[in-house]
Amino acid sequence: MSKIKCRSCGKELFYNSITDIPTFPFCSKRCKLTDLGSWFNEERCIEGPATNDQLEDNNE
Ligand SMILES: [Zn+2]
Repeated sequence: MSKIKCRSCGKELFYNSITDIPTFPFCSKRCKLTDLGSWFNEERCIEGPATNDQLEDNNE
């Protein structure tokens, strides 16, 4: 099982497969929309490359 944090609200999500989370990498459709909104407000400021370390952080 893997764990990510919702990119919008930071809620932890557990999943066996990314397909378990239709709204990946967000916990909900609402967070997805919220994040998209902030994205546009920040003039599409692009973060660095995808953080594989976060996706695979499963040490707990
Ligand atoms: Zn969320």
